[in-house]
Amino acid sequence: MSVMIGQQTLVQVEAYEQYVGAEAVARIRKKAERLQGLHITNVNSTYYGGGVAELLSSLSLLMNSVGIKTGWRVIQGSPDFFSITKKIHNALQGHSINLTERKMEIYERVVFENAVRNHLDHDLVIIHDPQPLPLITHYQKKGPWIWRCHIDLTARHPQCWNYLVSFIEQYDAVILSLQDYQQKLKTPQVFFMPAIDPFSIKNQEMREEEIEERLRHHHIPTDLPLVVQISRFDPWKDPKGVIEAFQIARQEVDCTLVLLGNVATDDPEGSQVYDQIREYRDDRIIILSEQDSALVNALQRRAAVVLQKSLREGFGLTVTEAMWKGTPVVGGKVGGIRYQIEDGVNGFLVSSVKEAADRMVKLLKNPKLRQEMGGKARESVRQNFLLTRYLEQYLDLFNSFETIYRLKI
Ligand code: UDP
Repeated sequence: MSVMIGQQTLVQVEAYEQYVGAEAVARIRKKAERLQGLHITNVNSTYYGGGVAELLSSLSLLMNSVGIKTGWRVIQGSPDFFSITKKIHNALQGHSINLTERKMEIYERVVFENAVRNHLDHDLVIIHDPQPLPLITHYQKKGPWIWRCHIDLTARHPQCWNYLVSFIEQYDAVILSLQDYQQKLKTPQVFFMPAIDPFSIKNQEMREEEIEERLRHHHIPTDLPLVVQISRFDPWKDPKGVIEAFQIARQEVDCTLVLLGNVATDDPEGSQVYDQIREYRDDRIIILSEQDSALVNALQRRAAVVLQKSLREGFGLTVTEAMWKGTPVVGGKVGGIRYQIEDGVNGFLVSSVKEAADRMVKLLKNPKLRQEMGGKARESVRQNFLLTRYLEQYLDLFNSFETIYRLKI
C-alpha cells in the first residue's frame, strides 16, 4: 500500500491493515478528514541519533500520507549550547545542575537566533524536548503550540524544572510519554507512548542473506550467540553495566557482546562515553560506533538476547524495535520500559547488573524460552506499539483544538 511519487513510494496508512486491521485504518482516515490540508511543523534539535529523530522521520511522513502537511525543522546550536541543553536534559532525569545566568543566557539567545531564522506561521507547531522550548516566546501564535517532552520527569531537578515552566505554560498542550511523568502545570497534559514504523529500513523484514551480509560487513562474528545493546553512547544507557553483566554471563555461556552506538549531533557526551568503554573491547566484546539502520535491523533480528539496561528511559524505542523482531529483551526496570516489557512474559525487567546477567544466562541457555518470549514480544508490539496508534492519538489531540477549524475556514 504505497503511493508513487516520481520513482519513489510513500507508505500509506492502509499498509498497516495487515497488522492493525481495516477498521482501525478506516477510523484513522475518518479522524484525518477534518484536518485535510492542515499545515503543521515539528521542531527538534537533531536529524539523526536518538529516538526523537527516529520518530519524526517516520511520523512526519505518515501524517503527510493522511493529508496533513507536516514538516520538520531542526534548530542549530553551538557546542556550548548543546552542552547546556544536555545538562538540562540530565537535570530533568535527576542529575544536579548549576543553572547560572550565563547558561540561561546562552540557551535563550541561541533559541532566539533560531526563531529569527525560522518563520513559524503554521496552523499548528510541535516543539520537541527542552532544546527548542523557548522558541514560543518569539512568535505571534497563529494556532496551537504543543510541547512534546520525551523525557522521564519523575526525578526532575526542581530548580531546572521551575525555570522551564515559564516557557512550558505558554503552550496550549503538553504531551508526555507516561502518566507517571505528569506535572503540576496550568497547561493541559496528555500521555502518548511512542511507537515504531514497521516499514522503515530499521524494522522492515530482512532476508537471512541480508542479515549475514550486514554482520559480515562490520566483522561481527556469528559463531556464538549474540547479546546486543543498541544505544547512543550515554551514561543513562549504562554501557558499563552491560559489559559487567556480560562478563558475569560469559562465565556460564559462551557468547559475543555487541554494543552498537551512535552519537547524536545534540549530545556532546557521546564521544566521551565511547572513549571510556572502548578499553573493554576484546575478541568477544565488540564496540561499534556506526550510523547504519540496516545493521541495527540485522543485529536485533540475529541477537539471542537484546539488552537495554537503561538507568532512566522516557520510552526505549530500541526495546520495541527488538521485540517486533521476535527477540526477547532484558530491560532496565525504569520509565517507559516497565510498560514495554511484561516481566517474565515477553522479556525481563532488571534492576541490577547481577539480575541482568542472570536473565541473560537464562535466555541464552533456553532456546525454547527465547522463542516463546519472542513470539509474545512481537504480538505485544503489534497490539500496542505500531505507529498508527501514535498517529491516531495525535489526530485526536489536533481534533480537540477548536481553533484549528476556524483557521481552515
Ligand atoms: N539507534 C541507531 N543506531 C545506534 C543507536 C541507536 O539507529 O547506533 C536508534 C535506535 O534504533 C532507536 C533510536 O536510535 O531507533 C534510539 O531511541 P531510544 O528511544 O531507544 O533512545 P534515545 O536515544 O532516544 O534515548
